Order: sequence, then structure tokens, then C-alpha cells
Amino acid sequence: MDTILHGLNGAQRTAVTSPASVLQILAPPGSGKTKTLTARVAYLLAHDGLDPTNIIVTTFTIKAAREMGERVRSLVGDDLGKKLVLGTFHSICRRYLAVYGHLIGIQRRFGIADSSDSLGIIKRIIKRLKLNIDPAATRTRISNSKAKGISHDDVTAKNHTSKILDQQEFAIAYREYELTLAQSNLLDFDDLLVRCVELLQQHPKCVSKVQAVLIDEFQDTNHIQFELMCLLSQYQKRITIVGDPDQSIYGFRSAEIENLKRMQQCYPDTLTVFLEQNYRSSGSILLSAMEVIQQDSSRPNNNLIPTHCVGTRPVLRKLHSAATEALWIVTEIKRSLALTGSLLRLSDFAILVRSAFLSRHIESACGKAGIAYRMVGGWRFYDRLEIKILLDYLRIISHPGNSDALARIINVPSRRIGETTIKNLLEEAETNSMTLWALISGVLRGNLTSKIKFTKVAQQGLSSLSNLIIESRQMLSDCTKSKFNLVDLLENVMKKLAYKEFLEKTHSEDHESRWANVQELVAQASDFSLSIQNGSDEDESLPEVEELPQQKPTSFEDGLARFLANVALSSEIKPEDAQAGINDQVVISTIHAAKGLEWPVVFIPGAYQGSIPHSRSDDMDEERRLLYVAMTRAKALLYLSCPTKNSNQDCTKLSQFLSSETLAALLQNKGPSFTSVVAGSLAQILGRSCPPKLTLPENHGLKSLEDDIWPLNGEMVANNGDRHDGLQLGNAQHAGERWSTKFTSLE
Ligand code: ATP
Ligand code: MG
Repeated sequence: MDTILHGLNGAQRTAVTSPASVLQILAPPGSGKTKTLTARVAYLLAHDGLDPTNIIVTTFTIKAAREMGERVRSLVGDDLGKKLVLGTFHSICRRYLAVYGHLIGIQRRFGIADSSDSLGIIKRIIKRLKLNIDPAATRTRISNSKAKGISHDDVTAKNHTSKILDQQEFAIAYREYELTLAQSNLLDFDDLLVRCVELLQQHPKCVSKVQAVLIDEFQDTNHIQFELMCLLSQYQKRITIVGDPDQSIYGFRSAEIENLKRMQQCYPDTLTVFLEQNYRSSGSILLSAMEVIQQDSSRPNNNLIPTHCVGTRPVLRKLHSAATEALWIVTEIKRSLALTGSLLRLSDFAILVRSAFLSRHIESACGKAGIAYRMVGGWRFYDRLEIKILLDYLRIISHPGNSDALARIINVPSRRIGETTIKNLLEEAETNSMTLWALISGVLRGNLTSKIKFTKVAQQGLSSLSNLIIESRQMLSDCTKSKFNLVDLLENVMKKLAYKEFLEKTHSEDHESRWANVQELVAQASDFSLSIQNGSDEDESLPEVEELPQQKPTSFEDGLARFLANVALSSEIKPEDAQAGINDQVVISTIHAAKGLEWPVVFIPGAYQGSIPHSRSDDMDEERRLLYVAMTRAKALLYLSCPTKNSNQDCTKLSQFLSSETLAALLQNKGPSFTSVVAGSLAQILGRSCPPKLTLPENHGLKSLEDDIWPLNGEMVANNGDRHDGLQLGNAQHAGERWSTKFTSLE
């Protein structure tokens, strides 16, 4: 027990040990909400003796779930920790549907339609029915409707008398979309939640064993997730939620800040615990973040007490272009690494951007400066072309009914089947209410006739594709648990497709890096296969409930389905090594994906009007909260910056959130001087030991430790005369080594 409560403050202990059946912990960033929630899970196991298979814990990302699992295991041991039902709402719902979905007519081996599948289906419906609506907007609207629990019947009924054509067309598209998914035995992301609600409403017994439900980042749950929480805890109302209304940033995905109020209405006996001490950030970072969030005068003024020293004032820097901004960031990273000795390493730095496109210059500058970096969120590893093609093959092998996946790879690599033929095939399949796979295999076997005539070459191509799918499915159903091997399967597919040669031919410029990505996928498949073979994979079962039949895995096809579900539900570039320190890389992330995380040094570039707040957003409060979330990720150093020109060469204006005079007084416009006092405060905040003496590296090009080498209003010129307005960082090398380029200012 001591281990669980060790190092927690009074309020945190109260929350962890509270006997209250419904508990909410409301607290600002960095106050230990996630830490407290994790300790409470451990406490319920160790003190209250709850069965881990009956505890449901939801987090916001797969990464957060993994981290929480590790923390709990370190507190209560592997045996208990491993059995928790822990994951994102989506992954937990998928698990329930896999085991109990048959009770509401879902086959165990349903596939997951990812966002490109959904868009493909909608596009075809719009074309076939000659509707006059935008496919992407329709997809968003369908998704929003599902999140709000509005079915296509509701839309149809509501808009029956509507004169707005658009509404009626939307209702038709929504209905057809649902029909197509059902025919192909596919569920989209929203269905995972919606259908799980349906399951738990119709068969509440599925959750009769659940003893506790705990939810992190509750402020970003939506209507349907709230309903799920109520349903999951309907037998034993033991609920813990943690959240912070100031960090609600998923309004665009129908998250409802209102859920916090609903909590009190639905559960009037809720005990609320407030945490006020911030353990993450320096005093001056907190002060400036508070200054930003307090611009919203309608919010209650929450207390936030720093536990660390004041530290270095955050930097706000204007630079004259996005390219210069990127170069400045890279230089600041190198400068701080070089000047703080062993205090900082690359993985201590994060660059958080409002929109994915803002990373372009930064990636390029890091690449040229030899700074290793890793992209998180918004740029999915699994969305890369060379990976997506292979995954589509795997998805069809797992689930041949996925017509969109099949249509995407039917001519990749080329089988001499033209775009029009593919479209016609899809249409013909849809008209006959069958999947593309059923149509093609029927035609190949001679059981069906098609209006579409193939050339001999195309026919041969189709036969070899069909053989590959059949052969691969056979490989899967033949293997026993101890021999489950996705690598063999994947390699066989690549061999039959001559995949390496295909990449060389089609991407002569960067085929090597693409092949390296493919190898990464193979490595992931290998890890996954090993975990199935030795039984260390996440146990997907749910506790047995009397009189309620469960669907058991029938074959190792389930293994492949699970691998693909992990891929579909993952928002990360690749599964990360458990310890961040192993990958000594700077992280480049979207702000949204950085939620709940923390780094010693954080850069927030592109802080201009139009970027944050975003020009397309009409919710200023949510945009402000987004900046607040980004700023509060920083522990010791925070850099905000704004190019005065963006890529279109228009002048940009500093974000309105950063323009106040009070804030200006809290910020400095130059990178910090790394004196021993500064290094000492960094060490204190990070809980690290301070290097005894800071020295300038040889040939560094800096006059002194105080030197911020960037002119405030100029561009950089290297000693060889190169101007650094663009992206040449000359031959500057890794920090810690010599800087072979000396910078001088234009001034
Ligand atoms: P966010 O709102 O950003 O998700 P949070 O409230 O969940 O933040 P945590 O991530 O749990 O905060 O904690 C922030 C940091 O503070 C972590 O490094 C954590 O280990 C540390 N921390 C939390 N509580 C304590 C404590 N009582 N003593 C020392 N460090 C603590
Ligand atoms: Mg947290």
C-alpha cells in the first residue's frame, strides 16, 4: 500500500483512497490527475481486492493506455496489471463487440472501415445516386450524427418535410452508407461506440461483472461516450473520472464539455476532489499559461500553485519567415544542448504545431542539421503509401468483404485493370448487393457473368490476386497458436507481388526510405506474432457471465484481425519504445496529440493569427484552450514563435492570445542565457543533477554563454557567406560535436 500512496500529496491521497462510489477529480494541467487515477486503479486492486478483469480504464490514446498499464504493473505486479480492461473507448468497445456482438447480429470477424474506406464508400454513393453534396462534409456529418446518437432513421424522420434538398440528400447518403457497411460486415470508428451502446442496452448482462470504471481526460468525452460510461457501470456504480474543463480541445469532434455538468445531474452524490499544486512546470511558464487562459473571463478562476522555482521566462520570438523560424528552433536546440552539458538530451525537446503542414520547414531544418526527430499524431505511419498498400492486402486477406480496400489494390501493382473498369466493377457489385470479392471470385469461377469484359492479361492478373488471397487465408487457418506468424504471411505477399521491385520502379527517388518503412512494418508484425505465440499479448477475453454465450476465437485469423484493429485505432506513428530515453529524438507533434504529455523543453511555432486561432475555427475559446494545452506541456523552457510572413508571403500577425501587454511583460524575446544559475534552476525543475561547470564547446561561434546568436531583426549568414534565410544550416553538426559553421549576424 505504501508504494501506491508514496509521493502523493494530501488531496491526491484523498482521491486515491476515497470510498465514494462516484468520484470526480477536477484539476488543472500537471497537477497529477493521471498519476492519481493510476494510483486509484492500483488501490482498487490491492486494497479493495477488485478483480482486474472487472475494472475498465479508458484513456485518450493507445500510448497513454500503454503507459498507464506499465505504471499500474509497477505498483501491483504483472499478474494483476496485465488483466485490466484498459484502452481507448474505441478499443474497449471493439473488444465487447468481438465477444458479444453476435447478440446484436454482428459477426465476430467484422472489419474496421478506416476513414479512407468511409470516404470511398460515400463518394461512390454520391456518384451512383447523383447526389449534390460534398463527400468529405457528408462523412463528417455522418460521424457527428453518430456521435450524437442520431441514426439515419432519425435524420430521415426529422427532415421528412424539410425543403432543404441538402438535408434530404444527406439522409439518403447516410442510409446508403449504413447499408453498404452492413453488407460488407464493416464497422466504422463511430459504429464501434454506437453499436456497443446498443449491445449494452439490449444485453446489460454483458457488463454485470464490471466493478469499476475509470476515465482519464473526461473533458473530451462526447455524448455517446458518456452514455457508455453509464452503461458500463450500471451494475456497480463505482466511477472515477478525471478532467480539466480548460483543456477541452476536441469540440470539433463533438466532445461535450457539458458532460462535466451532466455528471452532477446524473450522479448527485458525486464527490469532487480538486488538486491545485502543479508539479510539472516552472513558475514563469505557469504564470504565462494562466495569463492566456484567463483571457476567457467566463471561466471560473481556478487556483494553480507552482511547486517549482520561477525558472527562465518563456521566449516569444518573431522571425521573418517560416523557414527562418525553423532554423532558429534548430539552432536553439543545438545551442541549449551544447551549453547545458549533460543536462539535456534530444528527447527532452518537443515541437508542437497547430496544423500538420507547419512541420514541413521544421522537418527539413532538422534533417539538414542532423537532428534526429520523430513525428507523432496527424502523420500516421500507417497512412504512408507503401504501408497502406500492404495493409490493404492484409485487410482483404482478413476480410475479403472490404470492397474499398480491394478496389484500392486491385491494380496495385499494375494488373492492367483501368480506373473505369474498377469503378464499373464496384458499381456492378453494389447493384447486385454483393461485395466486390464475391463478384470477382464468382466471375473467375465461372459461376457469375459480368457485363464487364477483361483482357486476357487483366484476367490473369485477377486470378493471381484471387489465388494470393485464398492461399494466404489458408496459411492463416492452418497455423496453430505456437506457430502464428504474420511475418511469413506478409513476406509471401511481398514476394508474390515483387513488392521491392515495384517500389524501386514506381518511387525511384525515395524507394530506400520506403523500403525501410516496410521493414518497420515487418518488425511490428514480428513483435505481434511473438506476443501471440508466447501468450504475452493483451488478453482479449471478458469475464464469463452466466447464460450469456461468448464468441470465442475460432482460428488465428483473429490474430490478424486484432493486428489490423490495433493499426486502425492507433494514432501514433509507430509503437514507441516504452522508455522515451531509448529513442533519443526530438518529438514533432500536433498539439492535439500532445494532450496529457510533458517535455522539459517545448517549442510552439506558428503562433500567428490564422494558425492559432485557426482561420477556419469559429470557437475562439477552444482555440485559446488549445494554446493553453500546448504551453502547459513544458516543464522548464517554453519557446513561442511567429513568422512575420507565412508560406504565401502574406504578412502574418502575432496570435491575439499572445498580444496582451501583461503577457509581454512575462516573456522575453531572446533565447535564455545558459548561465550556471539558469542551469541550476533547470536541474531543479527536472529533478536532475546539474553539471558541475558549464563550458563553451570549442569552435562554437558564440561569444559567451549569454549569447543568443540570432539577431532580433535579421537573417543569419554563415562564415562561408551562405545566407540562412532558406534552409541551409551549412555543415553545422550534431550538438556536442564541433560546430563547423560560425554564424555572424547581418547587422
Ligand atoms: P494533464 O492535465 O496535462 O494531463 P495531469 O494532471 O494528468 O496533467 P500528471 O501527468 O499526472 O498530471 O502529472 C504531471 C507531472 O507531475 C508528472 O511528471 C507527475 O509524475 C508529477 N507529479 C504528480 N503528482 C506529483 C506529486 N505528488 N509529487 C511529485 N510529482 C508529482
Ligand atoms: Mg493527464
